Formats: sequence, structure tokens, C-alpha cells
Amino acid sequence: MTFQPHGKHLIDGEWVASGARFASSPAHGSAHSFGVASAAEVDRACRAAQEAFWSFGYTPVEQRAALLNTIADEIDVRGDDITAIGTQETGLPEARLQGERGRTTGQLRLFADHILRGEHRDRRHDVALPDRAPLPRPDLKMVQRPIGPVAVFGASNFPLAFSTAGGDTASALAAGCPVVVKGHPAHPGTGEIIAEAIHAAIAKCDVAPGTFSFLQGDTREMGQALVQHPLITAVGFTGSLGGGRALFDLCAARPTPIPFFGELGSINPMFLLPEALKTRNDDIASGWAGSLIMGAGQFCTNPGMVVMVDGPDADAFAIAAAKSLLPVGPQTMLTDGIAAAYRDGCERMAANTGVEVLSSSTCNDRTATPNLFTASGAEWLANPALGEEIFGPVGLIIRAADIAEMLKIAHTLEGQLTCTLHMNDGDTPMAQRLVPVLERKAGRIMVNGFPTGVEVCDAMVHGGPYPASTNFGATSVGTLAIRRFLRPVCYQNVPQDLLPVDLL
Ligand code: NAP
Repeated sequence: MTFQPHGKHLIDGEWVASGARFASSPAHGSAHSFGVASAAEVDRACRAAQEAFWSFGYTPVEQRAALLNTIADEIDVRGDDITAIGTQETGLPEARLQGERGRTTGQLRLFADHILRGEHRDRRHDVALPDRAPLPRPDLKMVQRPIGPVAVFGASNFPLAFSTAGGDTASALAAGCPVVVKGHPAHPGTGEIIAEAIHAAIAKCDVAPGTFSFLQGDTREMGQALVQHPLITAVGFTGSLGGGRALFDLCAARPTPIPFFGELGSINPMFLLPEALKTRNDDIASGWAGSLIMGAGQFCTNPGMVVMVDGPDADAFAIAAAKSLLPVGPQTMLTDGIAAAYRDGCERMAANTGVEVLSSSTCNDRTATPNLFTASGAEWLANPALGEEIFGPVGLIIRAADIAEMLKIAHTLEGQLTCTLHMNDGDTPMAQRLVPVLERKAGRIMVNGFPTGVEVCDAMVHGGPYPASTNFGATSVGTLAIRRFLRPVCYQNVPQDLLPVDLL
């Protein structure tokens, strides 16, 4: 590996060394030292972002598209080094990081194409009706405008696609909003090399340097200072329910509250309908097991719970799923803390008297092995803790007494990123009763598939009712994600010379 992190922040186009330091904790390889941004450094980055907004917020879409495409090119140039440091820091396999890099650059280029098409502007025009009675109508034009500097928190589980140049950053830059990133302390070197790529692209595209700043740190104070900074106008976040909720509350409690677009926890329930369970039992069980262990289960779309009607088919499903999970050995997790939280969660689950352990194994340090549990529908309904996310390769099979109890479980679910139906044609009447319930619970409804693997495209919704997200109708993946960082402005009788370039 040729890239050696220097541990500095990128603020307003300059690499800045901090006094306070923290050491990285890589899965393998040597640790490196990184700065912890002070309140003064947070302030400098936010002020630079505000200053940059006065030019970047008014750039033509062609210039912003060029920036996004150049960032993607600069990431490609550093591809091997990104994979090397990313693998060391996160323990994720090389192939996964290469794939995630392709997704990240593809996402940047997708946003470039999207803004060139112009649909994000959502332009509307009600022409003046001076002769209308009893009152004339003025000329009214509407366009979506960028909101201002955006803070982005990198996610531990997607060091590329949801971090420094991930979907939040790409969609904010596409909208015309400068970005201040708090890199995730689990992969600070990966964040740094991506920040270098963005820095190089900004210089090539002649964009104001304050358009992108990158701050490191492993303290709560730093993240809190960032979301409370008066010049920050919105926050993009992917992470835990506890951390996300704390930051959401801080955003709401500011003298000027701002939107907090948090993507938090989800158990992504799958409903296995009777005919599908009878005819495709083994296939669904092995597919579910594969989805559960993918990336050591560290996906927000991990399908942690399946619901079916109890009986011999449910017994066979449990046996087949346990058989698929049994040979899976320990997988490296992203951080020691995430591995410890996984073990604690599985121990809490096993301690419930109404929960039966179908398959368990021991793991230690930074590793995880799969665990499989089962409980009755009545137990699940009586014990809300069984609906909480355990981040890692764990599955819970819920055996409902009958179809009516399955529906009751669907009604009782908290907000989810995804809900899945496994069904045959003969299950359609039951599915027709479930879909209206599930579409109120989740951002994405799937049939006969597994939710891990989120397509980045125009129709994707990666969000959902709380606690899946705090997005209130938005998505953090796909081109619709840009809407989070735009605000509609109406121009009434405003002369052409005063209109923003987006309206011309
Ligand atoms: P996290 O603890 O929520 O941290 C995410 C980011 O937010 C970090 O930069 C963290 O900074 C910051 N942060 C958290 N709480 C904060 C607070 N109260 N004030 C200020 N900043 C705060 O998430 P994580 O480190 O990625 O993983 C921990 C757990 O999150 C996992 O075990 C898993 O349960 C969950 N998780 C869920 C998803 C998902 O997609 N649903 C994804 C990743 C993780 P510091 O690290 O410096 O505190």
C-alpha cells in the first residue's frame, strides 16, 4: 500500500493539523494518528461552507455535474489505495470494497446526469391573468433552490457509499449545497484519501474551496458542535438509533431548528405466506440465511425477522435455515464496539423465556458468528424488545398462530426501511390484506426477494417511518435524495433579471 494517512482535516482547501489526536483501530495492519477537530475548526469549516454557498449555490448545473464526475474520476485514480486502506480499517473483503467503490462513483455520476436533466428543479409557472375577475392573478414561478451548508456524518458500515463521498455528500453537492463531513472514526484513513480525491476535483473544477470540508474526530462534542452550528442548514446521518436520536433532538432544540435526515435502525421483516412456505421452503430458507450473513449482517437492510404461520412447514423452514447457518464461521466486524453490541444483543435475546435458541455459537473480539432464534407470535406481540434491531448476522423466526395473528404483527411493527412478502399466486388474497398495512410501515415493499442490495436509481426509496429514519418522506439512496437539500421558492412578479439561473 502506498497511501499513508497524514491525519489532518481538510478545511477551506487547506490540510490542517489538530492538537488533540486519536489512534485508528484497524482490523489489521498498523494504526495511524488522526486529529480531533476542535470547536474552532468546526466553526472555520462551517464559515467556509457558508462563504462558498454564495458562489456554489448559484453555479449552473453543468459546473456541478462536472464536479461530481471529476470526484468520481479522482476516486477511480486512487482505487487500489482506497481498497487497501479500507480493507485494513474495516476488515471488509477487497471485493466488497471494490464493489462499493463502483457504487460510490456510479452514484456521483448518476447525480451528475440527474441535475443535467433538470427534473430536480420541479419548475412551475402560473402565468399572470391580469384580466381575471374579481381579482387579477400575478405571475408566479416556482423552483427548488439549495438550502445552504449541509453536515454529513460518515457511516461505519459503508466506508465509501455512505461516507465521505457517499450518497448524502453527492446529493447535497448536486443540489448546490456545500458540505462539511464528519468522518467516521472507524475508517479515518479511508475518509482521508476520499477527501483528497474531492480536494483534487474541487481544484480542477474551479469551485470555491469551502464547498467541501472534512473533519475527523472520535468525540461526541465534535459532532454536537457541528449539528448545532448556526450556519448548518441540514444534517445527513446513517448510524445507530441512539446516536441518531440524540443528534435529531439537538437539531430540533436549536434556536433555529434544522432538518435531520437520519437513517437509523430496521429489522426489515419478511412475511412468508402459506403456499410459498409449502412449495419453496428450502430455497427461501437458504436465501434468507445468505442475506443474513452477507457482510457479517452489518447492513441496515438485513432481514432480521421472518413471520410465518406455525405448523410443519414452519418447523421445516427453521431446520433448513439452521442448517444453512451452521457451517458459517466467524466474520470480522467493523469495530470492537459493534462486535460487543452484537454479542450483548444476542445474549439479551436468548435470555427471554419465550425465545428458543435454534442455533448459536460463540465468537470473540471483533468477530461475529450467526445466531438463530424463534418465538411465537403471541410472545412477539407481548414483548416489544423482540422488535429491536440487533446489528449483525442474527435471525428471528416468528410463528404466528394463524393469518389473523400475522396481520396483527404487521399492524404492530415500528417503521421499517423494507418489508418483504414471499408468496405464490395462491397467496394473493392474503398479500392483498398485508400490503396496505406494510406500505404504511416501510419505505420499500418487496416480493420474492431479499432486501440486502439497494439499487441506486430514480425509483429507490431508502427511508421509512421512524425509527427506520427521521426522514419524514425522503430517501437517502437514489436521485430523490436530492430533495432533502432543496427548498421550494416562489417568485411572484419577479423580473427576469432577478430570477435564479435555474428558472431561466
Ligand atoms: P453511531 O454510534 O450512531 O455513530 C455514528 C456517528 O455519529 C459517529 O460519527 C459518532 O461519533 C456520531 N455520534 C453518535 N452518537 C452521537 C452523539 N450522541 N453525539 C454526537 N455524535 C454522535 O453508529 P456506529 O458507530 O456506526 O455503530 C454503532 C451502532 O450503530 C451499531 O452497532 C449498529 O447498531 C448501528 N448502526 C446502524 C446502521 C444502520 O444502517 N441502521 C448503520 C451503522 C450502524 P463517535 O463515534 O465519535 O461517537
